[in-house]
Amino acid sequence: MTGEHGVNEKKITGQTAIVTGSSSGIGAGIARELGAAGANVVVNYAGNRDGANEVVHQIIEGGGSAIAVKADVSREEDVASMFREAIDTYGTVDILVSNAGVQKDAAFLDMTLDQWNRVIGINLTGAFLCAREAAREFLRRGLVPERSSALGKIIFISSVHEIIPWAGHVNYAASKGGVMLFMKSIAQELGPQKIRVNSIAPGAIKTPINRPAWETPEAEANLLNLIPYNRVGEPVDIARAAVWLASDASDYVHGTSLLVDGGMALYPGFASGG
Ligand code: NAP
Repeated sequence: MTGEHGVNEKKITGQTAIVTGSSSGIGAGIARELGAAGANVVVNYAGNRDGANEVVHQIIEGGGSAIAVKADVSREEDVASMFREAIDTYGTVDILVSNAGVQKDAAFLDMTLDQWNRVIGINLTGAFLCAREAAREFLRRGLVPERSSALGKIIFISSVHEIIPWAGHVNYAASKGGVMLFMKSIAQELGPQKIRVNSIAPGAIKTPINRPAWETPEAEANLLNLIPYNRVGEPVDIARAAVWLASDASDYVHGTSLLVDGGMALYPGFASGG
């Protein structure tokens, strides 16, 4: 049911979405919005079982269907078993939102190999493992034209730091820069098979990952200096874009990073400097 003026009406009814890292923050918002738009949702978590169960509960209360599945996206066998559970429950997977991500911040000279490997392992290798599994499942299942024009949709949640350098967070920026060219390269490779691949690059969104940057009025005022639109984002800002990218409404959008950042990537320092 796609209403002429509807925003996120049941545009993806009957499709199944895996949202990695959806026990919290942006992923939780995306899972809720996909559920409200008619998708069956696999709410993936690594440690926060209560958070995942709460999101499942909210989706079911809203009339949707969801299950919580524990998997560490940096582990190949966990990713395989998460997809198996999704397919056992819902028959197939139509949409992957690769969202799970962490920060392990340190000054470059002090950064440990463990901090580097952990962030690359979850943010970049996790994206690789999940996208590869999703593409394999899309190809196994084949096109179902009454459900979607695409064989399947892959959406990465990257960051403005796929383009904006970030001192003190070089592992994170490297992982997100990596996701950008990974996304574009597989979009080039998988497009002919009708697999649609895109990223959303969020700016500053209020979630636990960046709490110190917005939790006091002083911190928030400081953060707003970086955001021309002058408000800090909320998970639903990203979730609405994700529903659009998952639906046929965006069928000709492929290989793109959609900045959802209130203008953070506009070099706001140049508004008065330069
Ligand atoms: P968050 O609230 O801390 O959520 C992170 C999620 O990732 C949690 O659900 C966590 O699950 C999951 N996760 C962590 N390690 C995992 C693993 N090994 N396997 C599976 N899931 C794992 O942070 P967020 O802000 O929503 O971040 C979501 C994504 O948005 C990240 O990729 C982040 O880089 C990106 N992003 C955020 C912002 C922002 O301003 N908030 C801006 C740009 C990009 P558990 O808690 O269950 O471990």
